[in-house]
Parts: sequence; C-alpha cells; structure tokens
Amino acid sequence: MPFAVGLTGGIGSGKTTVAELFAELGAGVVDTDEIAHALTGPGQAAVGEIARRFGPQYATADGTMDRTRMRKLAFEDARAKKDLESILHPLIRREAERRLANSTAPYAILVVPLLFESGTYQTMVRRVLVVDSDQETRIERVRRRNNLSREEILAIMAAQVGQAERVRRSDDVIRNDGDLAALAAQVAALHRKYLDLAAES
Ligand code: ADP
Repeated sequence: MPFAVGLTGGIGSGKTTVAELFAELGAGVVDTDEIAHALTGPGQAAVGEIARRFGPQYATADGTMDRTRMRKLAFEDARAKKDLESILHPLIRREAERRLANSTAPYAILVVPLLFESGTYQTMVRRVLVVDSDQETRIERVRRRNNLSREEILAIMAAQVGQAERVRRSDDVIRNDGDLAALAAQVAALHRKYLDLAAES
C-alpha cells in the first residue's frame, strides 16, 4: 500500500483540478467519483442489483444506471438513498483499495469528496488535504460547469460538512481563490512534501 493522502473539499472547490495537477507531477490518483461512475456503467454487477432493488426503469437499455432518475429518487427519498449507498459504497471502497494496492507511484492521492461525511476512508489515508475556496467562487464555478441554479447548488452544499469544519479537520490546506498558476504552485510545494513523507514512511 503506498503512502496515501486523502483529498477532499466541497463541490466546486477545485478537487478535480488539483488531482489532475498532482497526477501531472507523478502522484498516483484514485478518484472515488470516477470509480462510482465506472461501477454504474454498462453491464456492471451493481446495475443489476440496483435494478432489482428499485425497478428495471433505473437501468438503461445498455445496462447503465439511469443516473438522472436515480439522483432524483435519492434526493426525494432518504430510504432509497441509503439503500443505493449500501449497494455502492462497499464496492467503491473495495475498488479504491485495489487501485491503491496496485499503484506503483511514490505516493497516492485518494479523492473522496465526502471524506469526513462517510468516515470509512479516513483509515485508508495517512493525511488529509482539503481544497478551500470562497463560497461565492464555488457557486459561480459550479453554476458554469453543471448549469445548476444557485438554489440547487446551495441545497447540495447544505448536505455537506461545512468548509470551516473540513479545514479544521485536515492536515494540509490548498486555497483556491486565485488563478491556475497560484493553484499549481501550491500543488508543487505539497508534492515535494509528500515525496519526503512517503520516503520516510
Ligand atoms: P470539484 O472537483 O471540487 O467540484 P473542479 O476541480 O471540478 O471542482 O472545479 C470546478 C470548476 O471550476 C471546473 O470547471 C474547473 O475547471 C474550474 N476551476 C477550478 N479552479 C479554478 C481556478 N483556480 N481558476 C479557474 N477555474 C478553476
């Protein structure tokens, strides 16, 4: 198992961008959102289980989870959300462990948007890095990226741990209120630090 750093942050904070910058420098990157997407793709076992639990209309003709329909149900029905999570979370965690174990990079970044909310990933990482940026900046970024309304974004944010608590519980912080060059400089400094820590461990 390589030295692993958990990367978290609220929606729109810049986690995906930061993970890409680490990958460019040679860190191994394992992204739990990407795993969730892969596990609900065509012909995956989880999709069969989801169709059995929620009905065949939750899978499309090619055997992909109907993400729009599922998101809507999970948003409206807390029980359904819990059932979906109990199908997906163990599979995501197992796949994340498998990818980390197979990584040959000097250290790994494990991207977990809800690291503090879900709990189970904290035991897999040696440190936690949070990406932090102003709420208004985050709203504006997500509005542009996902074409969501301000209200929809605020509802998503309300269901997440607040940024202040995330920062308080993390070992390292990246501030992402500036341009991409400012972001890359912070990533480069942390990359050097993580190489040192990984070599020591
Ligand atoms: P997250 O994964 O935390 O939701 P992303 O990395 O996807 O956040 O960033 C949200 C959006 O904002 C993306 O479209 C990304 O390209 C853009 N973005 C992030 N950081 C910056 C920055 N420093 N300057 C300009 N655009 C940024």
